[in-house]
Amino acid sequence: MPKAQETVLEIDLSALKHNFEYLKSKLQKDTKFLAVVKAFAYGNDADTIALYLQDLGVDYFAVAYTGEGVALRNAGITKPILVLHPLPTSFHTIIERCLEPSIYNWKVLNAFLEVATAKNQKQYPIHLKFNTGLNRLGFDLEDIQTIHSKLQWSETIHIKSIFSHLAASEDLSEKAFTEQQIQSFKNITETFEKVFDYKPLLHLSNTSGILNYSDAHLDMVRSGIGLYGFGNSEKENKNFKPIATLKSVISQIHHIEKGETVGYNRAFKSEEAITTATIPIGHADGIGRQYGQGKGYVIIKSQKAPIVGNVCMDMIMVNITGIVCEEGDEVIIFDTSHTAEHLANTANTISYELVTAISQRVKRIIIK
Ligand SMILES: *Cc1c(COP(=O)(O)O)cnc(C)c1O
Repeated sequence: MPKAQETVLEIDLSALKHNFEYLKSKLQKDTKFLAVVKAFAYGNDADTIALYLQDLGVDYFAVAYTGEGVALRNAGITKPILVLHPLPTSFHTIIERCLEPSIYNWKVLNAFLEVATAKNQKQYPIHLKFNTGLNRLGFDLEDIQTIHSKLQWSETIHIKSIFSHLAASEDLSEKAFTEQQIQSFKNITETFEKVFDYKPLLHLSNTSGILNYSDAHLDMVRSGIGLYGFGNSEKENKNFKPIATLKSVISQIHHIEKGETVGYNRAFKSEEAITTATIPIGHADGIGRQYGQGKGYVIIKSQKAPIVGNVCMDMIMVNITGIVCEEGDEVIIFDTSHTAEHLANTANTISYELVTAISQRVKRIIIK
């Protein structure tokens, strides 16, 4: 790649392919693969990522909200798209754009039935979400009988899958809890199959579920973070390739005397003479204020340059004392060795938050 001349997020599709193939290698041959591409494919570029994965043979996509599904349809995605957290106000759009809603409580079930009936739908595919311990969205085991009573004479909708979500699949100290969730889901699916007398698709595992709980792969798995190159553990990270590199440049270099301050609120007071570089990326681009005050750092000429003082909206200042560099030189915010997970950890957060925060202002460059 040519050196960056502005702030850019480079997205490497060959790394995406590698991650997809690695995750697939963990599955049985007939296990379906759902790619989670919510939040702009975790900040990467949902259209490009989804079209590429569609070509690679992904079976299903998931987004969080209806608008994200509409954008994928507009981009040419023809595979089924599960909307994980639809709200009743979007149900007309869901049906018009052939999106498949997750139905997680009575209010959304009733509202969806009403809209689907008004639109004369037959066997419209829906996905029933069950709560097995995350306590976020979902029906309970006890609701199955009532769901059946409500739907048994209805031709309007068809329960294509039932699913749940693991709360701590990446955390092996919570193995007992996860096993309990897997067992609860099994009870739910067995009860469902008895009451309804047919077997929908069953799915439970996110990326860490794929890696840590092979007995929980069931009919389909749902992976997000793994596709983008993170395995949620030091051991697994080695098997993945982060697909995104966030780069910028040095706009200006300053020589700061002992006693001078740098940035807003004079948050950094220099105790010795130092050199700083100003970089055109700030909290409006997704580098939050929690990375300031020496916590986060960037890489310039293979050396660490910690963020000095407060992160500004459009800029950070970093300490480059002792680094031989000049204005216009390239700056790595994160890449495959100083990873987004690594940078996120400096501010006590997780890769998911950092990568999804990279704002739409940052230009995306696709590397084939
Ligand atoms: C976001 C999400 C996923 C993807 O999780 P990863 O840890 O990124 O693989 C899977 N299922 C549901 C319900 C989600 O909300």
